Amino acid sequence: MHTLPAPPVPSAILSFDFDGTLHFSGESPPVPADFFEIVRKLREEQGVVWGINTGRSMPQMVEGFIESQFPFLPDWVVAREREIYFPNNFGRWLPHSEWNRRCEKEIHALFKHSRKLLKKIRQEIEQSTGAQWLEMAGEPAGIISQSEEEMEWIVGRLETIIAAEPHLAWQRNSIYLRFGHRDFQKGSSLSQIAKHYGLTAARCFAIGDSHNDLEMLDPANAAMTACPANAIAEVREKIAATGGLIARAAHGYGSIEALYHYFGGGQIEGNSPS
Ligand SMILES: [Mg+2]
Repeated sequence: MHTLPAPPVPSAILSFDFDGTLHFSGESPPVPADFFEIVRKLREEQGVVWGINTGRSMPQMVEGFIESQFPFLPDWVVAREREIYFPNNFGRWLPHSEWNRRCEKEIHALFKHSRKLLKKIRQEIEQSTGAQWLEMAGEPAGIISQSEEEMEWIVGRLETIIAAEPHLAWQRNSIYLRFGHRDFQKGSSLSQIAKHYGLTAARCFAIGDSHNDLEMLDPANAAMTACPANAIAEVREKIAATGGLIARAAHGYGSIEALYHYFGGGQIEGNSPS
């Protein structure tokens, strides 16, 4: 699998969350075939570059490309909300070494510095909830709750406990939570991608459906923002408050609708251009 030929002068960056935004396991194929055709067209006619900005790890994302039958690869991937990868000519994913190393170094230092605080959080979570604490190589601290409600409670507690360490942050996606560094999330990663292509937030488009998308949906990182109809309430509120597009269609079809909204291309079924 390869990328399409690179546009001579990139004109805009398209940033898509994967699960729930482009991909929906209830559909077959999980990513609509029309999506790829529109991206191909926008690339040829307008010189856009596109990527996936996901909480998945890079190997999980590669599985996603295969499962969803991507006809061509994106130009970049942000994995685990913070690691940047670009494909080489053989479709192998290579890290943005400078960014990924800086990110890893800062996260490592922060976790070392916050060891006691994380221990305290872990104790409280394990005593008060049925949630599971995760600790593994490359993933120093995370939580999987039993339900959305339980995660709501956990996040409420974290807001109080973590105030002591302003650099420590977390990324939540439904019942999953990953601790990390405030400065490394989907939004700062997208800005770094834009910088790589010599563009700014004014030329960035982003679409997402969940908590971990909030930073990349901020006007500081993307001037053109959207969410699919299935997005959680917090995301829909943010999009409404910042003048973005709340698509009428869900998942991948919402992504298609948003591309028509911002980049034109005529009318799509059931929707009038606005
Ligand atoms: Mg999502």
